[in-house]
Amino acid sequence: MLTALITGASRGIGAKTAELFAENGYFVIVNYNKSEDCAQKVVNSIRQKGFAAEKIHADVSQYDECVNMVEEVIKKYGHIDVLVNNAGVSAIKPLYDTNEGDFEYIMNSNFKGVFNMCKAATPFMVERKKGKIVNVSSVWGKVGSSCESVYCASKGAVDSFAKSLAKELGLSGINVNCVAPGFIDTEMNRQLDENSVNEIIEETPLARVGTPLDVANAILFLAGDKSDFITGQVLYVNGGWQI
Ligand code: NAP
Repeated sequence: MLTALITGASRGIGAKTAELFAENGYFVIVNYNKSEDCAQKVVNSIRQKGFAAEKIHADVSQYDECVNMVEEVIKKYGHIDVLVNNAGVSAIKPLYDTNEGDFEYIMNSNFKGVFNMCKAATPFMVERKKGKIVNVSSVWGKVGSSCESVYCASKGAVDSFAKSLAKELGLSGINVNCVAPGFIDTEMNRQLDENSVNEIIEETPLARVGTPLDVANAILFLAGDKSDFITGQVLYVNGGWQI
């Protein structure tokens, strides 16, 4: 059975991705950091539908925790076919109010987390000459956004890191790509008021916000064999909001 380790799968895009992967025949490993109950609910809901899933704890910003998580998965399930680096945090603050602690929290969760997970998991993929890595970055990593400078920089870093890894790991049979969502209806965006959401909808050619399933479908594509000749790419899922 193909295994998929999905970081930050306790809710939002990660949870929907876990559900979709399970429905498509993957054994899904649902990573969480703070929300164990939510992760258990994701696992229960997948199992109730007759599919397979397990939850596992790790704070992806901590290298040792990532190594332990990957080793545990390998020990229990033998291999990781797909690594989805989805875990992420956001913060909306002007630079004036952003301190070093904010910088470290955002960069370590969003970018170092991807570095940690790739460093921990790729030796096992290289050994098998097989593996798919899909990172969830953001359209904001490309276009920037006022009062989200560190978040945007962390996502830009994820995109360029993926392009470099794609070049480095291609001969080892590993594809590395990113899915860059636009505005997706999840908890991450709950602080935005109705007017701001309506403005985004007005600026979006497909005239709606995105859903976690919109993003999960793109991740599933980049994780599967229909995308075998695609690597080092960033696939934007944003309804045409930025073209
Ligand atoms: P969300 O609903 O806030 O969920 C974030 C997930 O990340 C949670 O499951 C959380 O788990 C996990 N997480 C955060 N820090 C972690 C850490 N250090 N270690 C392990 N897990 C961690 O957000 P979302 O909207 O689904 O976002 C998912 C990804 O899409 C993020 O990378 C985000 O930047 C990106 N994205 C989202 C949007 C959007 O509009 N929503 C747009 C562009 C990109 P715990 O609660 O268990 O800690």
